[in-house]
Amino acid sequence: MLAIHEITAEGKKSRRTKPVVDPNKCKGCFICVAFCPEQILVPGEVLNQHGFTVVKVVEGKTCRGCRRCYVMCPDLAFTFIGGESGHAADDEG
Ligand code: SF4
Ligand code: SF4
Repeated sequence: MLAIHEITAEGKKSRRTKPVVDPNKCKGCFICVAFCPEQILVPGEVLNQHGFTVVKVVEGKTCRGCRRCYVMCPDLAFTFIGGESGHAADDEG
């Protein structure tokens, strides 16, 4: 069972975290769109240098920092800014 202070700390971390997509790694499969529980990720309108439609990060929505998008992306296109462990994904990508 989580203590109250742990829940609070997780909430603060999530509010500060934001995903960033490398446009030239994305191949427009939209697996991340299907797995994002907050509907922050949507199909975009921009093509990258390979001709793929790049996923878009919706502004104004709160990322919970669950990293499902990062785990599911087959092309390691995600990094994160902010959050207490905001650079964790960078280490593997
Ligand atoms: S899962 Fe990765 S490659 Fe697929 S749309 Fe999302 S960012 Fe792009
Ligand atoms: S970390 Fe979770 S909530 Fe944030 S964009 Fe990725 S899947 Fe969505």
